[in-house]
Amino acid sequence: MMTRGLLITVSGASGTGKGTVCKRLLDLTPTLIYSISATTRAPREGELDGREYFFFSRDQFVEKINRNEFLEYADVYGNYYGTLRSYVDGQLADGRDVLLEIDTQGALKVQKACPEGVFIFLLPPSLEELKQRIMGRGTESPESLAKRLKSAPLEIEIGRQYDYVVVNDSVERAVDQIKSIIAAEHCRVDRSAGLFDTFKS
Ligand code: 5GP
Repeated sequence: MMTRGLLITVSGASGTGKGTVCKRLLDLTPTLIYSISATTRAPREGELDGREYFFFSRDQFVEKINRNEFLEYADVYGNYYGTLRSYVDGQLADGRDVLLEIDTQGALKVQKACPEGVFIFLLPPSLEELKQRIMGRGTESPESLAKRLKSAPLEIEIGRQYDYVVVNDSVERAVDQIKSIIAAEHCRVDRSAGLFDTFKS
């Protein structure tokens, strides 16, 4: 019997460093599949359609919402972002672990739809550090920056609802901890019924 892959969500307040941590995690874990999200925001310099995101117009995105093609979607700072259901389901069914790097609203929706998923909340070392990181990024408009700064403390509170919390004070340490979480989740008895079945006499 093929064991279904793990649906792993890494989430956290904007500016926590999810992107960097997930990228390093993926580099070190070639078996882990990154779920490429769809978004209506414009590509940033260096971003490619189908690599960082699938870049859709608002009309295209709404059409997919109406066809129920998203496992979750959210309006994040004025743009839509969503996880395409078909891609994720196919990979999990083939026994591959899938990584979702999504915002906190989306993560809560996935938690409702897929309670068997693994939900990891990434914390910045401090609120001050988070603010510095958001302001230092240099890619945001003043309005977007203000929204992200204002919502940070509230977004951090949402972390209490996750399964695991990892502090991103060093990328390598955070990645090590996430790798350990994934390894431990694979060993859970409730995910290993098939293993026990092979010992039945
Ligand atoms: P950015 O515009 O900086 O790439 O991403 C903004 C926020 O949207 C980040 O917190 C990112 O994790 C989140 N995000 C990216 N993809 C998705 C998605 O598919 N669903 C949801 N809910 N959030 C996403």
